[in-house]
Amino acid sequence: MTYRVKEMFYSLQGEGAHQGRASVFVRFSKCNLWNGRESDRATAVCNFCDTDILGTDGQNGGVFETPEALARAAADLWPGTPDGSSWLICTGGEPLLQLDVPLVGAFKAQGFQVAVETNGTRPAVEGLDWICLSPKGKSELLITRCDELKLVYPQADAPPERFRNIETPLRYLSPMADPQWIAGSDPVKAENTAKALEYCLQHPQWRLSLQTHKLLGID
Ligand code: SF4
Repeated sequence: MTYRVKEMFYSLQGEGAHQGRASVFVRFSKCNLWNGRESDRATAVCNFCDTDILGTDGQNGGVFETPEALARAAADLWPGTPDGSSWLICTGGEPLLQLDVPLVGAFKAQGFQVAVETNGTRPAVEGLDWICLSPKGKSELLITRCDELKLVYPQADAPPERFRNIETPLRYLSPMADPQWIAGSDPVKAENTAKALEYCLQHPQWRLSLQTHKLLGID
């Protein structure tokens, strides 16, 4: 199997339980809930994506012919040699369209623990160390147990109450940004942050997660 990767980089995790943790990010191309074209955004199951998910032309992106080739390229981004606790995050796009057992094994052989950020509509692959589930719109979930649930808020078709039965120790609300926002203050996000803050105060099982990487201006 070949793997199509939009971009790969080393940075700090900006959100959720591992916020502030040094990580290699592997952003896989493509998603099953939006084809990435602006002309089709309005009719997509997920219509607020703020990520370029098409192609392989981002930093360190490309088509990798083997799991080992991709894992070696990821390890090259880590300072020094990954030591078995080094953190690698598979994101996208929807990473579970491509991530498979051989690739998880190849990342581990290079010294990584492997986390995934998924929309939950594909089965989880064996061997993952951390699953961050981020449901979108009306989509049906195949993953119902995770290490953290991160819900972009508010979503008309995905209110927090809908995920009462998800088995997870951690529930986060992440305020929805304006997908067209480029730079400067984002009034849509500011308004949604206030709504999420209020929801968390009223429902203490939920925590507020801010995209600190955007606040810091890092990848
Ligand atoms: S599910 Fe995630 S990657 Fe897919 S379109 Fe939505 S935000 Fe983008």
